[in-house]
Amino acid sequence: MQTTRDDVYAVGDVTGIDMFVYMAAYGGKLAALNALEGNHKQYDDAIMPTVVFTDPQVADVGLTERQAKEQNINIKTSSIILNHVPRFIAAHDTRGLIKLIANKNTDKLLGVHILAPEAGEMIQTAVTALKAGMTTEDLANSIFPYLTGVEGLKLAALNFDKDVKKTIMLCWLVYLTNCEQLLSVERPHHHLSKTNLKIPKLHKHSKIKGLIDAYLRHRRSYVTEKRRAKREILG
Ligand SMILES: Cc1cc2nc3c(=O)[nH]c(=O)nc-3n(C[C@H](O)[C@H](O)[C@H](O)COP(=O)(O)OP(=O)(O)OC[C@H]3O[C@@H](n4cnc5c(N)ncnc54)[C@H](O)[C@@H]3O)c2cc1C
Repeated sequence: MQTTRDDVYAVGDVTGIDMFVYMAAYGGKLAALNALEGNHKQYDDAIMPTVVFTDPQVADVGLTERQAKEQNINIKTSSIILNHVPRFIAAHDTRGLIKLIANKNTDKLLGVHILAPEAGEMIQTAVTALKAGMTTEDLANSIFPYLTGVEGLKLAALNFDKDVKKTIMLCWLVYLTNCEQLLSVERPHHHLSKTNLKIPKLHKHSKIKGLIDAYLRHRRSYVTEKRRAKREILG
């Protein structure tokens, strides 16, 4: 941050790098401390998140696969599409993917790249993980709340060792089977129809009704998804 003139420091867009509000603020604090206390503070943008506010958003932090290779780091990568992240399936918006880059020797997380609706809201968890020096195993073993986008980070981490696609499809299969079982228990000889929802017994169980509502609303896509899941898992 110190310029060619010892008593002049530069931060923000004028430096030509990291042209973001939060980097100007970060650099400003360091520059002030360096100017007053001697040049002890190092500007470090290795774990700097970026967000592009497109639709879907693009957010990333750390090394890309190419950058890691250029640094001769022995890497492994994991990518999952949003069709395998429950939050995005439920929201009916599965445009995008999550990619993790990790050191193959140490398992340490090196970079996270997200293309997703609200990717900007997800990236800070990755920043924290990188800052803490987490491994992909640490990330995979962390507890994430179900039905959040950020849970996709855990699934992508799990995907290094397991086929997350199959696990997620299995979950959907169980969910669909449960729905069908519930329906057949409540009305064994009736076809599915909107009138089923009016059964007073169901109204008492709002959770069950919610499941059935969801099932009826999206039955066609669920049936297709179920067939696909069966094929994927069994075949
Ligand atoms: C359209 C747009 C969208 C952006 N969106 C985001 C975003 O979502 N998130 C994000 O982090 N960043 C965003 N940025 C980038 C962000 O605005 C800049 O990185 C940030 O403002 C840089 O701060 P700065 O203090 O270095 O410069 P500036 O904020 O540009 O401040 C420089 C100030 O110096 C003043 N000045 C210039 N010349 C002189 C002079 N001779 N004498 C006195 N004053 C002078 C200017 O009037 C200005 O007020 C966006 C930028 C643009 C253009």
